[in-house]
Amino acid sequence: MSWRDGIMEAFRRARVLLREILYPEGALCLNCGRISDGNTLCPDCRRDLREGDLLESWETGEVGGVPFWSMRPHRGIPRTLILRLKHGAESRAAAELAAILQTRPAYFPALSPDTVVTWVPGPKGRILERGVDHGKLLAEAMARELGRPCRPLLTRRGNDRPQARLKESQRRQNLKNAFLPAGRISFPVLLVDDVLTTGTTASRCIDALRKGGATDIMVLTATKATSSKS
Ligand SMILES: [Zn+2]
Repeated sequence: MSWRDGIMEAFRRARVLLREILYPEGALCLNCGRISDGNTLCPDCRRDLREGDLLESWETGEVGGVPFWSMRPHRGIPRTLILRLKHGAESRAAAELAAILQTRPAYFPALSPDTVVTWVPGPKGRILERGVDHGKLLAEAMARELGRPCRPLLTRRGNDRPQARLKESQRRQNLKNAFLPAGRISFPVLLVDDVLTTGTTASRCIDALRKGGATDIMVLTATKATSSKS
C-alpha cells in the first residue's frame, strides 16, 4: 500500500467509524457507503456485482498444472470487497464475494461430493496483527455457497513477509517451501484465494497439496489481476 493509499484508507476508516456510530450494522453499503436496505451492499451495487458483464466476468485457465476459475476481474466492487476483507477482516465482504458463485456459468465443473475446500494460510504476523486469516473467512463463505466442508489442509512455515510488498523474484524466494500439507489428502481439493495474480502463491500451495497426496485439485479465486501486485 502506498502512503497515498494509506491516507485514503485512514480517511475511509474514520468515515466508516463515524457512520457506524450513526447507523446500526448492515445499514450502510460496504462498497459505496450509502444507506443500504439492511444488506451488505445497496441494491445498485448488488446489481452491478451480481449481474455485470457475465460473459467477461468469469475467467478459467491453468495454474500450477491444475484448472483455475476466477469469478471477476480485480477492479471495481469485487476489488473493494477484497480490500475490506483483507484490511478490515470484514466477514460480510467474504459472504458477498461468495454470493457471486450464484452467477457461475453452466460449464463450471460439478464438484464431487467429497470435495474439501481449503485456503492459502496467511503469514502468521499478519494473522496476529488482524486477529483473523482473511483467506479462511473467504474459503468458509465459498464452501457454504457450494455446500462443501472447509478444512485447513495447508500450514505455512516461518514468518515470511506479505507477498504484496515484494518484487517478483523476492516473492518466489519468499514462498519457496513456505507451505506444507497439514496431513494426508485422499480427496478432491478446491483451493480458494482472494486474488490470482502471477500464480506463484497458488503454485506453491498446489505443490504442497500434491506432497500431501492430493491428485484432484482445482483453484477458485474471487478475482484475477493483471498487474504484478496482489
Ligand atoms: Zn452501494
